[in-house]
Amino acid sequence: GSREMMKMEAAIRPHVVCVPLPAQGHINPMLKLAKLLHLSGFFVTFVHTQFNFDRLLKSRGLTSLKGLQDFRFETISDGLPDGNQRGILDLPQLCTTIPVEGLCSFRQLISRLVSPAKHDHHDADVPPVTCIVSDGVMWFTLKVSQEFHIPQFMFFTPSACGMLGYLNFEELQKRGYFPLKDEKNLFDGYLDTEVDWIEAMKGARLKDLPTFLRSTNPSDTMFNYNIVAVNTAMHAKGVILNSFEDLESDVLDAIRAKYPNLFPIGPLSMLYKQLSNSSNTTQLESIEVNLWKEDNKCLEWLDKREKGSVVYVNFGSFVIMTPKQLSEFAWGLVNCKFHFLWVIRPNLVHDNTNSGDEKLSDEYMNVIESCERGLVLGWCQQEKVLSHESIGGFLTHCGWNSTLESICEGVPMACWPFFAEQQTNSFYACNKWGIGMEIECDVKREQVEELVRELMEGQKGKQMRDKAMGWKHKAEAATSIGGSSYNNYNSLVLQLKGH
Ligand code: UDP
Repeated sequence: GSREMMKMEAAIRPHVVCVPLPAQGHINPMLKLAKLLHLSGFFVTFVHTQFNFDRLLKSRGLTSLKGLQDFRFETISDGLPDGNQRGILDLPQLCTTIPVEGLCSFRQLISRLVSPAKHDHHDADVPPVTCIVSDGVMWFTLKVSQEFHIPQFMFFTPSACGMLGYLNFEELQKRGYFPLKDEKNLFDGYLDTEVDWIEAMKGARLKDLPTFLRSTNPSDTMFNYNIVAVNTAMHAKGVILNSFEDLESDVLDAIRAKYPNLFPIGPLSMLYKQLSNSSNTTQLESIEVNLWKEDNKCLEWLDKREKGSVVYVNFGSFVIMTPKQLSEFAWGLVNCKFHFLWVIRPNLVHDNTNSGDEKLSDEYMNVIESCERGLVLGWCQQEKVLSHESIGGFLTHCGWNSTLESICEGVPMACWPFFAEQQTNSFYACNKWGIGMEIECDVKREQVEELVRELMEGQKGKQMRDKAMGWKHKAEAATSIGGSSYNNYNSLVLQLKGH
């Protein structure tokens, strides 16, 4: 009967388990890859943490998270304590708990998914798991795949240049740059020291490398966690990156020395467009995982603005700034007289005195509202916004997804990198790709005003826009039939299918 048929089909269909780090900037690209693999015939299990899963339901007022019959969600534990400390993801804490608690629950999940029908008759049409694609920083998952003899690939969601930074952490230690000798080194110009031994990063200084090196503690959690992650990936079947050959060719070559089976398959959103061209993907598209509820009124607002006239301001999901910094950005934006669309995430602003964000944001809202050129939102669909023709420039923290999304739309950037490899992205955007200008860490309204003005209507701004358009076209070429990312993706699929 058809039940038997379904079982037979299930038995031969490849089944990939995708495991992102539970943060927006990791979930988004992993979801894109998961959708691509679904288009390529895979049954997909996408793994959330229980905490994010509940949060997704809550922010949408849902009782169950709809996937598809062959695109399902499962959960593991992140091991973090419950309670109101959960507002901002505490990365060092997560990096301590998830390799323990996450590992246990992931092991249980995989032991169920290797023979789903045996565990639950509802799962009769779920094929046994055949491969795992894990976020590189969820390195502990490799233990489980090895126990169960399931091939595993690591997907690192940062830029290749950021990855090359992490791959050099041990070298920084050997050469005595890490740990810092003194807290003062953070401010005394020491971070301007040139990093002269990484060929593909010519011109970079210590401060352009991922910020986790900025610690005097030899056992700094984030520094050491990243070393474990990059080293663990050497034992995986292969490594996947969301970048493309033309953009980061030297860096990718340097990375290949460590990970010979490397798959740069980005920009994933473009590749998805290419591959979903001829399929009916309405259902697949309806799967989304925004941890904040997006506000779409900005799209109508953008419709009313002139082409290239709006500054888009968004600092992503992790950045936390002081009220003073927010105020400098606000005045800078108000003073430069352009229209601006500014996403101020609910927990973006924080000072240690914690005197209440409510009152503070009132003050800015008044400034912004009285200038009548700004629209402020809590969260938006960034890719839709960036693709709107009214957007002329992007004031960004240079998270890799944001940077790549900006490149995909040919939008030049003003960069205010905050942490992790955002500094490296900003360095490459400004010095190698010619599409960005950096705002100083100690942000001043005058500089915001000056740089945004240059970005929107200056000579340099125009050059950057042309460059960004050039990269956009190269990205399109890379993801088109026969392009490097397109070909790399096809080889990846073959390997994931066990050929
Ligand atoms: N994003 C979004 N709406 C927002 C802010 C961010 O959809 O209002 C998305 C953005 O498109 C990107 C991701 O969230 O895909 C943020 O990732 P990124 O690497 O840029 O920064 P992170 O949040 O990890 O610092």
